[in-house]
Amino acid sequence: MLICIDDIKDQGLSIEFEEKPEEFPILEDITHTAECVFHLPLKFKVRAIRIKEMVKIEGRLETKIRLTCSRCLEPFESPLVTNFVLTYAQELPETAKMSGGGGIELSAEEAGLIIFAGREIDLKEALQEQVVMSIPMRPLCAETCKGLCSRCGANLNDGDCGCRQSSFNIKFAALKDLKLNQKE
Ligand SMILES: [Zn+2]
Ligand SMILES: [Zn+2]
Repeated sequence: MLICIDDIKDQGLSIEFEEKPEEFPILEDITHTAECVFHLPLKFKVRAIRIKEMVKIEGRLETKIRLTCSRCLEPFESPLVTNFVLTYAQELPETAKMSGGGGIELSAEEAGLIIFAGREIDLKEALQEQVVMSIPMRPLCAETCKGLCSRCGANLNDGDCGCRQSSFNIKFAALKDLKLNQKE
C-alpha cells in the first residue's frame, strides 16, 4: 500500500491491488465482533496525481460483506462499494500556513490534508478509515424489512405471526363494548 511519489508521472499513476481485511487492525477487530464479516478481499483501484507538493489520490473500494440486519437481526450479504478522494501533502501549503497575528491557523487535518514525509506515501491508514466509514451503521437486509414482532419476536418478513391481528381484535371488541355501554 506504498506509493513512491517518483513513480507518479505527469499522466498520473493508476494501480490496483487486493488486501486481506486482516492487514488492517481495525477491520480485524470488526470481523472478530462479527459486526461485519468480509467475504472477499478488499479490492482497491487508485489513481494518484501530483499537484505541486501535493498528491491527490482518487480511489475505489469493492468487496463483499456479511452484515446483521438491524431490524430483523438476520445476517445478509451485501456488496460494499465506495469512492473516495485523499489529498496528501508533503508539507503545509503556504496558504494554509499564513496565519498572521492572531489569524486563523488551519491544521493539516482541518484543511483535509494528510501529511507525509520522504518519497513514499503509505495509504494503509487512510484506506482503513475509508473502509470503516463505508460500513453502514444501521444495516438493513432490505429497505422494506418488516423487522421482528414486538410481542412474540417472530420475523415478520416470514409472514404475519397473528399478534397484530389479535391485538386489533381485542381493541376493537373493547371499543364496541364501550359504545354499547354508552348507549344504555
Ligand atoms: Zn431485515
Ligand atoms: Zn407476533
